[in-house]
Amino acid sequence: MNLAHLLHRIASFEPERPAILHGAALHATHGTWALRSARIAARLRAAGLDPGERVVLFMRNHPRYLELLLGIWWAGLVAVPVNSKLHPRELQWIAGNARARWAFVDRHCLPDPAALTGLDAVIDVDGASLDAWIEDEIATSPVVERDGGETAWLFYTSGTTGRPKGVMITHRNLLTMGLAYFTDIDPVDRADAIAYGAPMSHGAGLYAIPHLMVGARHVVPASGGFDAAELFALGAEVGPLSMFAAPTIVNRLVDHAQKHAVTQVEAGRAFKTVVYGGAPMYAADIARAIEVMGQRFVQIYGQGESPMTGTALGRHHLADTTHPHHAERTASVGVAQTPVRIRVADAEGRALPPGEVGEVLIRGDSVMAGYWDNPEATAAAIRDGWLWTGDMGALDADGFLTLKDRSKDLVISGGSNIYPREVEEVLLTAPGVREVAVVGAPDPEWGEVVVAFVVAQPGVELDAATLDAFCLERIARFKRPKRYQLVASLPKNNYGKVLKTALREHLADVS
Ligand code: AMP
Repeated sequence: MNLAHLLHRIASFEPERPAILHGAALHATHGTWALRSARIAARLRAAGLDPGERVVLFMRNHPRYLELLLGIWWAGLVAVPVNSKLHPRELQWIAGNARARWAFVDRHCLPDPAALTGLDAVIDVDGASLDAWIEDEIATSPVVERDGGETAWLFYTSGTTGRPKGVMITHRNLLTMGLAYFTDIDPVDRADAIAYGAPMSHGAGLYAIPHLMVGARHVVPASGGFDAAELFALGAEVGPLSMFAAPTIVNRLVDHAQKHAVTQVEAGRAFKTVVYGGAPMYAADIARAIEVMGQRFVQIYGQGESPMTGTALGRHHLADTTHPHHAERTASVGVAQTPVRIRVADAEGRALPPGEVGEVLIRGDSVMAGYWDNPEATAAAIRDGWLWTGDMGALDADGFLTLKDRSKDLVISGGSNIYPREVEEVLLTAPGVREVAVVGAPDPEWGEVVVAFVVAQPGVELDAATLDAFCLERIARFKRPKRYQLVASLPKNNYGKVLKTALREHLADVS
C-alpha cells in the first residue's frame, strides 16, 4: 500500500473538492493536488530515481510541501523531511547519511542551494523550474506500488545524544497512525480542516494523512509558522481548525485567547481540536487551556520511532471531571492507542505491576522498521518486537500511563531518584512562575543536585527563598531544588521542546 493512493483515491471521485489552502486562499483542489504530485513523480522517475531512493525536503511550511511529499511517495520514493531550522552542515550530514539523490530546498532555509553537495539535484522550491514542471502538460506517472513494509518517511531524530539516527517509517506505520487518529484522537469530518501551525517536517505534517483519508482541507498559514493571532483569524474564516501543537505553543495560543478575551464559543469557532504532545504538558497548563478555550484538547504521546502513536488522553477523559482519578488522569498521557500495546518494563523487559516505574515499551504496527543503516541501534531499540522508548513511566490499574521523564533526565541525588517533572509541576503552581525546567547538576557531595531554571511572569520579581519555602510545603525535602537560576527564557528547539541538554551544558560550563 502506497500512501499516495489516498490522494489518488479522493482525487478520482471528487477532483473539485478543495484540498490545500494557503492562508484563507485556495491553493489546490484534490484533483489539482493529485495532478501536480503525479507530475512531480513523473519528473523524478524520468530523472532516473528508482523506488526506495531518498529525496530530502528542507523547507518551511508551505502548500508545496504537501505536493512534493505526495509526489515523492507517488514515485515510490522515500521522503527525508529535515527540520528547516537546522544548520546547512547538519543538513549536509543528513543528506549524506541518507544517501539522498535529490533535495527540494527553500532559499530562506538554505540561501545557497549549491552549498548542498553530493546530490544529483538540489531544487529551489521557489524557483521557476518547479513551477514549470507543475504547470507543464508533461506525462504523469501512475502511483508506483509499494508494500506496506517499505519506508515512506526517513525521519532523523534530533540527535541530542550523539549523531541523529534515521528512523525508517513505513507506509504501513503511517496508515496505522492515520487510522488511529479516527479511533483515538478525533473523528475527522469531510468538512474539517487541519492547520499546520507546527513544522510539517515533524508529527504535525503527518496529520495530513488522516485528513487526506476523508478529503478534508489542509490549511497552511501564510506566515509559514506559528502565530496565534493569525491562527485565530484563519480559524474564524475557514475553520474550525484542528491542529497539533507542542505544549509551549498551546500555552501561547491560550495566552492570546486570554489577552484578547476570546470566549469559549469564539475559541470553538476557530478551533475544533488541538492535539498536544511531544513534551510534558503540566497539569496547571492544561487546566487553564480548557478553562479558557473549552474542551477541545486531546493529548498524544509518541516518538519519532512510533510517530504520534503511543497513548492518547481523549477529550472525554479530560471532561470526566467527577471521576475519582480525574486529577491523576489529567496529569497522565492517557491510554494505549488502538493499534498498539504499552508495557512498563524492568531492565529485562518484564511487565511491572501497576504503579511501578520502569521503561515504557510500545508494540504495534506504528513502530518503525528500524534505524537506517544502523543495525546495532535497531537491535538496542527493538527487542522481542517491543520498542524501548527511553521514557520512564508507570501504568495505573486502568491502563493510564504517567510519564516520569526520560531516563537520561532523571536526577539521582544522594542515591535517591528524583523525577524533574514532579518538581516542575509543583513550581509551576507557585505565584508568578511562568515556566520551569528542572535538571541535575554534578555535585561532589550528592552526586547530583536539583537545579531549577525559572522564568517569571512579566513584571514579577521572584526570589529563591520564596520558591524554596513553596517547595518545602509541598514536596519531600530531598526533591527540592538546591539552586534556582532565574532566567528570561528557556532554550527550546524548533518543536518547542525545552533543551535540557543545553541547560545541563550551561551548568557544566559555569561550575
Ligand atoms: P520525538 O521523537 O522528537 O517526537 O520525541 C519523542 C519524545 O518526546 C518522547 O520519547 C517523550 O520523551 C516526549 N514526549 C512525547 N509526547 C509526550 C507527552 N505527551 N508528554 C510528555 N513527553 C512527551
